[in-house]
Amino acid sequence: MDCIKSGIFGQIVGDALGLPVQFIPRDERDLDPVTDMRGQGAFNKPAGSWSDDSSLILATMDGLSKSLQRANHEENLRLNDIIDYEIIMENFSAWLNDGQFTPYGYAYDIGGATMDGIDRYDNGCEPLKSGGIGERDNGNGSLMRILPIAFYIYYLSQGYLFDDVEKMGAAHDLSSLTHRHKRSQIACGIYVRIALEFIENHEKELNLTLEELIENGIKKSKEYYQNLNSFKEELHHFDRVFSLDIQNLPRDEIKSGGYCISSLEASIWCLLNNENYKDTVLAAVNLGYDTDTTACIVGGLAGIYYGFEEIPSDWIEELAKLDYIYDIVNEFSNTLNTLN
Ligand SMILES: [Mg+2]
Repeated sequence: MDCIKSGIFGQIVGDALGLPVQFIPRDERDLDPVTDMRGQGAFNKPAGSWSDDSSLILATMDGLSKSLQRANHEENLRLNDIIDYEIIMENFSAWLNDGQFTPYGYAYDIGGATMDGIDRYDNGCEPLKSGGIGERDNGNGSLMRILPIAFYIYYLSQGYLFDDVEKMGAAHDLSSLTHRHKRSQIACGIYVRIALEFIENHEKELNLTLEELIENGIKKSKEYYQNLNSFKEELHHFDRVFSLDIQNLPRDEIKSGGYCISSLEASIWCLLNNENYKDTVLAAVNLGYDTDTTACIVGGLAGIYYGFEEIPSDWIEELAKLDYIYDIVNEFSNTLNTLN
């Protein structure tokens, strides 16, 4: 299960690398590319500070660990019987309102759709109905925090038999806490499907290439969605992803703002055009704009693929509240491990 550690630290390091230069356009990055951890900048924080992306990932992992610890382990247990979205949403609310899961005791860099979803929950809405369903609610705020569910699905599948509807449904439901539009759900579904390929490649030592893993993940998710009427009308937004040709697009055609599809495309592009963890996340940061989230999203997959040892150790050592991150990652791994 060391790929949980490599994936999650891959994400948090990406977030921390991108945070100081968030919002700044690409042409400025081209003149002054990020090559190392920096301090100050967008939120005036010391180097190694991480933001909402990492906070919500940690909040999700903590909620998933507690869900599993409280679950009643009978045979034929369904994935949705295990996941308690109320616990996860309580954690999100504790992040927003009380500063839990943050480096400095308060939430910052808060996305609009995420804040709205948590506010709806705080005002009595059910967790799975809290996320916005408007066309403008398709930011990358659920995609950036979705990776833990891929680990959960993969390792729990060793003890339980889950079908594809449950697995993809869990990704959709976890997105829906803050991002309930089908487009956001599909972006999360594709990313989780790709992540499952990466995790299996690591665990079974399959030694597949990045191209093969990403292609497998995209093809399987395309097949899945094409067979579901309820998602059909959204699928054309994913044409570039499904074309399997993202790698060859010029950098000018890769957007790096806060839209979920841009972030998914940018992640695939950065992965396929680089050959190690460090270059991959720096390429994401140096696309400019939503630097922390793009690097966080791609950093998770790059971390799993290249492994923990390939994440520069000085970047990890520099992370704020490092012991706290380790505690949550270890608790999550140990909880999944006791089941297997
Ligand atoms: Mg952020």
